[in-house]
Amino acid sequence: MLNHPGPSAILNRVATVQRRLEKFKLSCPVEYDRLMSDFTTFRVGGPADAVAYPRSVEELRETVLAARAAEIPAIVFGGGANVVVSDAGIRGLVVHLGQLRRVSAAGELLRAEAGAQISDVAAQAANRELSGLEFIFAMPGSVGGAVWMNARCYGGEIAPILHGVEYLTRDGETGRYEPRDGDFAYKKSPFQTGDRIITAAEFRLRPAPGQRPAMWERMRGYEEDRRLKGHFAWPCAGSVFKNDRRFGQPSGKIIDDIGLRGLKRGAAMVSDRHGNIIINTGAATAADIRSLVEDVQDRVARATGYHLEPEILFVGEWP
Ligand SMILES: Cc1cc2nc3c(=O)[nH]c(=O)nc-3n(C[C@H](O)[C@H](O)[C@H](O)COP(=O)(O)OP(=O)(O)OC[C@H]3O[C@@H](n4cnc5c(N)ncnc54)[C@H](O)[C@@H]3O)c2cc1C
Repeated sequence: MLNHPGPSAILNRVATVQRRLEKFKLSCPVEYDRLMSDFTTFRVGGPADAVAYPRSVEELRETVLAARAAEIPAIVFGGGANVVVSDAGIRGLVVHLGQLRRVSAAGELLRAEAGAQISDVAAQAANRELSGLEFIFAMPGSVGGAVWMNARCYGGEIAPILHGVEYLTRDGETGRYEPRDGDFAYKKSPFQTGDRIITAAEFRLRPAPGQRPAMWERMRGYEEDRRLKGHFAWPCAGSVFKNDRRFGQPSGKIIDDIGLRGLKRGAAMVSDRHGNIIINTGAATAADIRSLVEDVQDRVARATGYHLEPEILFVGEWP
């Protein structure tokens, strides 16, 4: 059972966060009591107490240090394409990086700030006739989120093209990370532990003079394939479960084989086009999605003995 606080408790909580943060006179815009469903591709999620929108690394530093001094927990958000925010929302501050989105190139190196949409960055690379990012065109999410998740698709992966990552620690220190062998793995990056906020990434690409039309053709092909798989037909967060080599087949195939396409919890449904995608068919709650994820895990475990590990992240306050 969800235990919802009453309206006055919520007002008090938000007012407390607001009072504590306003002491620091942040330079960047901040909104209070902001619905997170507007920031997630699943279109679910209750209110965050506060959301800050830093426009520069300096504003990000100021925000992170203020939250720490005010003892307010702060969570970083990119495109919200891999998260399920709870219906009760997020206590504390969401640091939304969508305003950090400058992109520049020098020779074969393309630098993009963390909040830029990774698909836009792939498009800009193609327009500059720099090849290597085509695989990720049309994938939702930010540069920071793609590095954090070591995003992969269509035979490509972020790690092999990563030249360097700029970051900020929660102590306000900036730094630069250079990839080392073994730091990245399937859906794993060194940023998943520790306190580093990715502020920009540099990709090493291949100059491809005269190749712009061919690159765009490949990218349109990937976009079309996603469309056919229903990626854009309903709110979702892409693949729900990680693949695991030990299963001998993709998680989506296992889910298909035991007939779970179309399985529903409230308005959340296992896509009828792809077993590893859960869609919000209208008014799904975060609780519907979580309960469906658990139901699929149970049914797969009973039928096959495999434990499917979610790739999507559950954030916020859960009962
Ligand atoms: C239709 C659809 C298709 C998809 N297809 C694919 C696919 O083919 N391959 C694939 O890998 N994924 C896919 N995804 C999932 C998603 O696009 C990726 O995981 C993406 O990389 C998430 O990026 P984001 O910016 O949205 O991250 P968010 O969801 O905002 O955040 C994810 C995590 O990263 C952390 N984070 C985000 N930015 C930063 C930062 N700057 N510094 C530190 N931490 C940060 C957040 O705190 C959170 O823990 C798909 C999603 C959708 C909706």
